[in-house]
Amino acid sequence: MRQEEPPTSGGLPGALRVYVAGVIASGLVVGALAFRVGVEEGFAPHAPFLAVVFAITMVVAEVLPVQFLRKEDQVVTTVSLAYFCGMIFVLPGYGAVLAAAAASASADALRRISPVKLAFNAAMFMLSIFAGTLVLRMGGAQDLLTMPQTGVGFLITTFAACAVIYLVNNLLLLRVVSILEGDRYLATVRRDLLASLPTDGMLLPLGPILVVVGSSHPVLLPFAMLLTAVVYVSAKVAAECQHDATRDPLSGLLNRRAFDASAEAALEKGQRTGTRLAMYLMDLNGFKAINDSLGHHVGDEVITGIAERLVAAAPPDAIVARMGGDEFAVLLPEISGTEAAVEIAERLSAVFDAPISPDHAREADLAVTGSIGLAVSGPGWSTVTELARAADAAMYACKRRSNRYLVANPDLQPGSEHHRSLQEAIAGDQMYLVYQPLLDTRTEAVLAFEALARWEHPEHGMISPVEFIQDMEAMSGLIGPFTERVLDDALLALASMHAAGHMVQVQVNISPLNLADPSFVSTVVEALDRHDIDGRWLVLEITETALMADADAARRTLAELLSFGIGVAMDDFGSGHSSLSMLKDIPLTGLKIDRSFTADSHSERGEAMLRMLVQLAHIHGLQSTAEGVEDKVLQRRMAAVGFDVVQGYGIGRPMSLDQTLAWLAGRASLDLAVELNVAEAGLPQHVPNR
Ligand code: C2E
Ligand code: CA
Ligand code: CA
Repeated sequence: MRQEEPPTSGGLPGALRVYVAGVIASGLVVGALAFRVGVEEGFAPHAPFLAVVFAITMVVAEVLPVQFLRKEDQVVTTVSLAYFCGMIFVLPGYGAVLAAAAASASADALRRISPVKLAFNAAMFMLSIFAGTLVLRMGGAQDLLTMPQTGVGFLITTFAACAVIYLVNNLLLLRVVSILEGDRYLATVRRDLLASLPTDGMLLPLGPILVVVGSSHPVLLPFAMLLTAVVYVSAKVAAECQHDATRDPLSGLLNRRAFDASAEAALEKGQRTGTRLAMYLMDLNGFKAINDSLGHHVGDEVITGIAERLVAAAPPDAIVARMGGDEFAVLLPEISGTEAAVEIAERLSAVFDAPISPDHAREADLAVTGSIGLAVSGPGWSTVTELARAADAAMYACKRRSNRYLVANPDLQPGSEHHRSLQEAIAGDQMYLVYQPLLDTRTEAVLAFEALARWEHPEHGMISPVEFIQDMEAMSGLIGPFTERVLDDALLALASMHAAGHMVQVQVNISPLNLADPSFVSTVVEALDRHDIDGRWLVLEITETALMADADAARRTLAELLSFGIGVAMDDFGSGHSSLSMLKDIPLTGLKIDRSFTADSHSERGEAMLRMLVQLAHIHGLQSTAEGVEDKVLQRRMAAVGFDVVQGYGIGRPMSLDQTLAWLAGRASLDLAVELNVAEAGLPQHVPNR
């Protein structure tokens, strides 16, 4: 086993430099010593033929190493060890020390390994072979060829020589590992000493066998050498298995399992050494649409293209992985703080700057975007799971806000003050709902109320739903209970409206996270049952983001909701990443056009746009709602443009339930006049017939 890749770029740590220099110096001293003995005793090998075969095989074997990934370091194993060990019997004196150094150095030179590493490896072999030779000499067993040895003493000596070579080699190398990992030397030795026993440990005892066979029956030497080839092949197979088990075959990046293992190791090291690490999770936007419309070949090219760019953009010590699907992850094992982490996020998000030009698509280049969530380890997050969850939540929030990246906020973690106060608010009276009316444009009848959440914080006063809902989405375990609470309050309010004779619907906003929850449909249906309300009185408002994370799952959930007669309206349509083609395969009943379009309706272009949007809704059989209708002029204009429904301050502001009931009572006479016309108005089918 030997050192291969530089585990970190740039300069080596000071302690390592001193240590490496020490080993190289000791190697030189031992080499000089061996040379002097060689001069005295002569260098001529006992078996010139074997010496030549061993020397050639040593270099060839060194040039063909098997690479393993151990922790974060690349280590290599070569079968040359058997020949190094055999050499101590073939070359008298300490000639084997020099031969080992020469073979190791020439192989490393051929492989263009850095000079420092080359010198270190050569010194390491000189020291271990020197120690092995010393043991053989002390046991009187070095002359395997001229005086065939028998007896237990010979066995013990030979075994001890092999063990000493193994130990010296490993102990020297593990010091490097312990310095690089910032671990205590003893701990590293305890953990890693036996790691190479199946390869190196098996190769060493083959040394004497090669010598005995080669000297007594040279024609049979190839058979003995075959044994070393067997070790080589099995090590290679093991390395390939390890590679396959840790790599994603498409992108060649590490897979989720390997990423988690690396993160675990890095976090453990960080906790020991006090360094922090940054985890980035990245998800492509609208990848499914690319796959669906352009085919999987193009999808694959997007994945490999982004993977290549990520590797290029990430710092050299970063661990880059594909977590599956269109999700990637980057881990920086050492980061000075959030600021540095953000700088890297900036660099990583630049992978979306240039479009991807797939070979398979004859179409134009593809503009691919994505969202990155990042979390920096610290007091808030002490495990990989917590860190990953925080980064994931940040990525999600990022997607929702259409940012390129977003840093996870430790204040939003479970156990934080903010988390607790939100939990309290959801369970208690600090949160309540207000209701904003939606009018039928033709009849001016009240069709529905949109339930809007309010949070009156005991200290901070009114907090906007935009703010606290984002926070809840970024935290784990809050949005589910919140939406359940909203549904319950909204349906209770609806029951009292119905009881007062106002047969309207209630529209409830739901978070994209709700749609991803497999138990969401049953939650809704159970809430309806609890209040004994039919599904057709409930409309859920979703945003486009809901469809971005897992469109298939979202589609299934929506279809199931629709099967219960529940309406689903797309909220704020046109404000985000909507694509027109998306509308045709999402189960919906309504389209709420974002209020920015309403505000723009005074211009000719704005009005044409609105007409087009109404058309779009109608083509798909959807009820069209104009949002942000702030006055009567706008209300009339929206009716003229063709909207089915209007909503806004001009019709009514969000009101408490009591105010709502009073407001409804005030309009009761108008409703009565209108009620008869509703059935003829040709409303979409999910609107309850009255
Ligand atoms: P939204 O679903 O688009 O709700 C409409 C927002 O526009 C409401 O703000 C409403 O008060 C405001 N609005 C209504 N008419 C007008 C108008 O004529 N002009 C203007 N300028 N604004 C008008 P609000 O209540 O602050 O809610 C903001 C957002 O918070 C909502 O946007 C919705 O995305 C979210 N939200 C509110 N309640 C809930 C809830 O219970 N669950 C979830 N998931 N989200 C909610
Ligand atoms: Ca809404
Ligand atoms: Ca809206």
